[in-house]
Amino acid sequence: MADTDVLVIGGGPAGAAAAYWLARHGHAVTIVERKTFPREKTCGDGLTPRAVHQLNEMGLSEQLTKYHRYNGLRATGMGRELELEWPSHPVYPRYGYVVRRRELDQMVAENAQQQGATLLLGHEAVQPIVERGFVRGATVQTYGGETKDIYAKYVVVADGANSRFGRALGTFRTREWPYGTAIRTYWTTPRHAEPWIESALDVKDRNGNPMPGYGWIFPVGDGTVNIGVGLLSTFRDFKSVNTTHLLDAYAHQVAERWEIDPGNPERKPTSGRIPMGGSVGPKAGPSYLVVGDASGSVNPFNGEGIDYAYETARMAAQILHEALVTGDPTLLQGYTKMLDDEYGDYFKVARLFARVIGKPVLMRELTRAGMHSRTLMEWVLRIMANLLRPDELGPAELAYKAAAKIVKLAPNA
Ligand SMILES: Cc1cc2nc3c(=O)[nH]c(=O)nc-3n(C[C@H](O)[C@H](O)[C@H](O)COP(=O)(O)OP(=O)(O)OC[C@H]3O[C@@H](n4cnc5c(N)ncnc54)[C@H](O)[C@@H]3O)c2cc1C
Repeated sequence: MADTDVLVIGGGPAGAAAAYWLARHGHAVTIVERKTFPREKTCGDGLTPRAVHQLNEMGLSEQLTKYHRYNGLRATGMGRELELEWPSHPVYPRYGYVVRRRELDQMVAENAQQQGATLLLGHEAVQPIVERGFVRGATVQTYGGETKDIYAKYVVVADGANSRFGRALGTFRTREWPYGTAIRTYWTTPRHAEPWIESALDVKDRNGNPMPGYGWIFPVGDGTVNIGVGLLSTFRDFKSVNTTHLLDAYAHQVAERWEIDPGNPERKPTSGRIPMGGSVGPKAGPSYLVVGDASGSVNPFNGEGIDYAYETARMAAQILHEALVTGDPTLLQGYTKMLDDEYGDYFKVARLFARVIGKPVLMRELTRAGMHSRTLMEWVLRIMANLLRPDELGPAELAYKAAAKIVKLAPNA
């Protein structure tokens, strides 16, 4: 006997969204989240138009208005600045928000709860329950050390980048594909409510020497900015770069302009790994689906994963709904194709891009070309934020199509 129709492992963006949509379809769903809210999650806290769209779809547009809304991206590099508004799109809004994950994730999880999901905080799934090759739930441990078994018809694996639970079921990352690592913390500044998020394409060390990686400054609107740096595994010296030093160098680089005290952040910086480009699989088993970071669903162009967590979770919920209604578990196998149709080509192009910018000379040349042409950067933003229009073939769509055509012929790298 199942305790619930679907057991969701993890209450971050992916788990909370999966639970919301399943509850909305009328199913019994239980989320186990090992931490208690509010909890920290190392992140840039940037919500792009794709993420805002999903939050709106979950009925959170009103609640979002109390957070800092911004209009677009300011790209900096080669001594230049370009302010680029989010492009127009028939589906996605022309604005984003910056919301600390401490607040965002609690809001979205509680929204799932209000929709009817059961949210068990301080409950860690320590082991899958497997019967005759089918995952039937999880053994869960509470803070107090008690354990109990929760049985379910289906399981959603939403336990994030490290995904211990997913790995226990046999998921693995395609090692040859790029991944990322990033570090961030917060600084107080009078410029905390700027209408742009900022991204730097030329991070330097304290002596002004170029460093691999890119930097961001996301105004939180609460007296602070989230400042971080990201690195791709394709970058030169990736393994030997000390990200704490890199962030420190970047904070010093921007200190005067952003009016921060670089030596005095709000807290010690924390870092995290970012699986990307759909690099983790298999994404579906006979009775479980894998969503969000646990499936490597992060955009390799820019490291954004909150929107992909919401989107993959929603697709998984749709498939599980159909399986529950029809009583046909084989429908779960359609999830991998659904993801492939939605992101396959795009992630392939983005993975190739990640390889190209890993070469310092190419990165420099692309930055130079981009920073000298607003039009070019507008296309680049549209492509990198995955905001290509389905209804119109503009220059960005044409450029992307050409790249996708070439990449289709390339090996799956
Ligand atoms: C430094 C950094 C900056 C980033 N900046 C951005 C950004 O600005 N914008 C953006 O869109 N993306 C950003 N990302 C990516 C983004 O953080 C992730 O893509 C996103 O959090 C994925 O959501 P998720 O629900 O899959 O995983 P998570 O957010 O990691 O949630 C997983 C949840 O599962 C819980 N959990 C784990 N194991 C268990 C278990 N066994 N039992 C119960 N619960 C468990 C965890 O406590 C956690 O709450 C950034 C990532 C990093 C590292």
